[in-house]
Amino acid sequence: MKTELLLLGATLLCAAAKPLSKAAQRNKLLLVSFDGFRWDYDQDVDTPHLDQLLQDGVKAKYLTPPMLTMTSPSHFTTITGRWVEDHEVVHNMMFNAQTNQKVPHKQTLTRSEWWDNGVQPLWITAQNQGLKTASFYFPGGGANYSGQVVNRVVLEESGYPDDNETEWQQNIDQVMSWFSDEDFHLVTLYYGEPDNVGHAKGPDHPDRKKIIRQIDRTIGYLREAILRHGLGDSLNVIITSDHGMTTVKKRPQVDEIVLNKYLNLIKLASFEILDYGGFGILTPRPGREQEVFNALSNAPNLTVYKKHELPESFHLAKSRRLPPIVVVGDLGFNLNSRFIVYVNKGDHGYHSGEMDMKTIFRAFGPDFRRNFLSEPFDSVHIYPLMCRVLQIQPAPHNGSLTVTEGMLLHSGGSQRSRLSVALLLSTLLFMFTEL
Ligand SMILES: [Zn+2]
Repeated sequence: MKTELLLLGATLLCAAAKPLSKAAQRNKLLLVSFDGFRWDYDQDVDTPHLDQLLQDGVKAKYLTPPMLTMTSPSHFTTITGRWVEDHEVVHNMMFNAQTNQKVPHKQTLTRSEWWDNGVQPLWITAQNQGLKTASFYFPGGGANYSGQVVNRVVLEESGYPDDNETEWQQNIDQVMSWFSDEDFHLVTLYYGEPDNVGHAKGPDHPDRKKIIRQIDRTIGYLREAILRHGLGDSLNVIITSDHGMTTVKKRPQVDEIVLNKYLNLIKLASFEILDYGGFGILTPRPGREQEVFNALSNAPNLTVYKKHELPESFHLAKSRRLPPIVVVGDLGFNLNSRFIVYVNKGDHGYHSGEMDMKTIFRAFGPDFRRNFLSEPFDSVHIYPLMCRVLQIQPAPHNGSLTVTEGMLLHSGGSQRSRLSVALLLSTLLFMFTEL
């Protein structure tokens, strides 16, 4: 009887352990970001390929970006799993409030002193655990981190058009060959659209729908390329974005904000970044902080914060880099400094709780469930999910795998099988002691 039981136990153990060995196979990961893809951009356009992704994978109802809803800060939260106050990439533009230096966004992309603040992005963490990684245009990929660089980096040139569909496809082919011919494990691929169209034309313009159709075709091209390169069984794909987009409110509909109406900027502030959508920063001249705060507290359609009083939920207050005063416009109100020179019809940088700032999350591949609609979650949780998919030890981060692991086939499965192994062992032990 004991021998039979042992044999039965061994057979059951093998069966229960099977999913574990399958989970142990390391698959590859492609992270794609379409800048400024609002969560609902696919709902008023025919997007057959995006729709098919839900059948074949995972869709989150929407994704909440970190405060602040800007390209570099948000992308860096995705690739590090850290809040902005921890990774310190607090603006698209590198700045120095003491010297008044401001570096334009695209030039900032290669300035390591802006990105490298002691937080390790996923590329470097993965490389240190033996994986090969690459960044194609992805914000943060062009910097070095404590002297370490991403294995392969393609940098976007300044002033280059972002919307050429043929190039989008060529970039996919390039990335696919890195996976299939050179055995890269992780590639991050960035597209500058639909952000550009959203800014220039506004989220409700027909051209925004046009670019979403182009993105949808590109996703179709990606899926075909994955099969063409024989990567269908080994490549996981996450498609996401950094923030949404909202229509800029203009006269005569509203009274646009001109901050200089409420405080004399020259007299009261020694440094400022305004005229940059819904998020502004100011360094008051010595002794003038309360005066600046009071003046802006009286201004309509914005909220002013002293940095150390920023709500904890913003995860910004600990930042050393942020100047002492932070201003957030009400949805659609841009923070103009002196004149309304801002020509954008759409913008972001507003509170990440606003639905218009929410963005997308999709995933598919061998490790993801099919037809799985996830509840909304914060983008900071993508990081531990990526580490799990790549089977690497994460660096310290602010995300939580419990939020996202339900999307995975084997992680839930292997946990269940571990549980059943434990149950089985205790049952056997019990039976033995009974015998
Ligand atoms: Zn933008």
